Amino acid sequence: MRHLYVNGAWIPSASGEGVDVVNPATEEVVDTVPAGWPGDVDGAVNAARAAFPAWSGTAPAERAKFLSAAAALLEERAKDVAATIAADMGSPFGFALKVQTLMPAGVLASYADLAESYAFDAGQVGNSRVVREPVGVVGAITPWNYPLHQVICKVAPALAAGCTVVLKPSEVAPLAAYALADIFHEVGLPPGVFNMVSGHGQVVGEAIASHPGVDMVSFTGSTRAGRRVAALAAQTVKRVALELGGKSANVILPDADMETAVKAGVANAFINAGQTCSAWSRMLVHWDQYDDAVRLAVEIARGYAPGDPLAEGTRMGPLVSAMQRDRVIRYINLGQEEGARLVLGGTDNPLDRGYYVEPTIFAGVSPGMSIEQEEIFGPVLAVVPFATEDEAVSIANGTPYGLAGAVWAGSEDRAVSVARRLRTGQVHVNGGRFNPLAPFGGYKQSGVGRELGEFGLEEYLEVKALHM
Ligand code: NAD
Repeated sequence: MRHLYVNGAWIPSASGEGVDVVNPATEEVVDTVPAGWPGDVDGAVNAARAAFPAWSGTAPAERAKFLSAAAALLEERAKDVAATIAADMGSPFGFALKVQTLMPAGVLASYADLAESYAFDAGQVGNSRVVREPVGVVGAITPWNYPLHQVICKVAPALAAGCTVVLKPSEVAPLAAYALADIFHEVGLPPGVFNMVSGHGQVVGEAIASHPGVDMVSFTGSTRAGRRVAALAAQTVKRVALELGGKSANVILPDADMETAVKAGVANAFINAGQTCSAWSRMLVHWDQYDDAVRLAVEIARGYAPGDPLAEGTRMGPLVSAMQRDRVIRYINLGQEEGARLVLGGTDNPLDRGYYVEPTIFAGVSPGMSIEQEEIFGPVLAVVPFATEDEAVSIANGTPYGLAGAVWAGSEDRAVSVARRLRTGQVHVNGGRFNPLAPFGGYKQSGVGRELGEFGLEEYLEVKALHM
């Protein structure tokens, strides 16, 4: 069994219990991490509190050196880390390397740059000088779907800001966080600046969220658990950042290049086997083009046949766990029961082992159906027809979520004007690329706060007025 990382050392959990980590492609146990205990959280929080005065007092350029060394080491180890992610959460290796490992290495490096360039001294307001200071000890709780990226999106800005951290990675896919802890250790991050307690959400996560020694909790995961974290954190009036679920719409207006939009939409819905919070899981198409778009989507989706994450050319791996597979299958059954038309895929496992679900497409989906409203978190695309631009906007905005989305139109001006009407944290306009320096986060029940770039850094900063 692995250990916890507390105060610069690897130590066993007081619980003595473990959580098995299962490879979802083989169904075999590949590792065991400690099921941490509230007492472990106390130890980690104490270490983080003790390290805070010195770390918050180091020059930002000094903190940048650690982040930049860690980014370089992560890049050097990228292939090993990607293989780890392929093994514990099932991402195809190429995707695990490029998106799950090298992109977060880039984010880590971006915070080394930001630590150096950011104006912590925010200037003068009348007779007052305004300064920004680290919020304190940060509790970070992260999910399994982008198991390194989600960690780095919190830990990198927190450390750059001068905060110290207690991380609880997902118990389902914790191994990349272990690789990152090794890296922080090897670059000589001072003891207590970064601590990690693995284990279950209801034990370790809740202990972090309610701990009086934690100043801020930054959570990424389901809306259900986010609500619980926010409620616990409220008892000690912690700052709370939440990155939660989504049900994003890909709005294809009638004058758009339909083929390009459908192709990009299918790819987006199925990356990481649909286990992406910002996935465009609803495709909104005008009635006039509806049948053609569905036909095209099905044709393209056939290219996403699930396979071994380590095999050359695999574009879609298994779902992360048997539980997640069962949840997705329940939604596929529910979609049919509620009258949507299954035009591709279904509930059969295409392989003889592993938690696979075929790429699945529903047509004839009406607003309000469960598969149109609820986050499925699997390779299930709902194609929804609309008659007017206003109706498209109303369908796109018609869920409790507001994380991401896309708009395709004949002109950028039209696409932007529709994008501005979407109540969502980011919108890809006519195929605009993802930008890891731009703010990422949700409106409505998709969350509170922003990650990435300068906006992400500011989440971890307090503002102080010095009246002179
Ligand atoms: P989850 O909510 O089950 O777990 C996320 C993390 O929270 C895990 O570390 C878990 O152990 C912990 N946790 C669970 N219950 C808790 C509790 N009561 N108190 C404290 N911590 C608790 O989510 P998941 O299944 O790991 O991840 C999938 C979800 O994450 C999806 O809903 C997805 O949309 C969301 N997500 C959001 C973003 C985003 O940036 N908005 C990014 C990735 C994933």
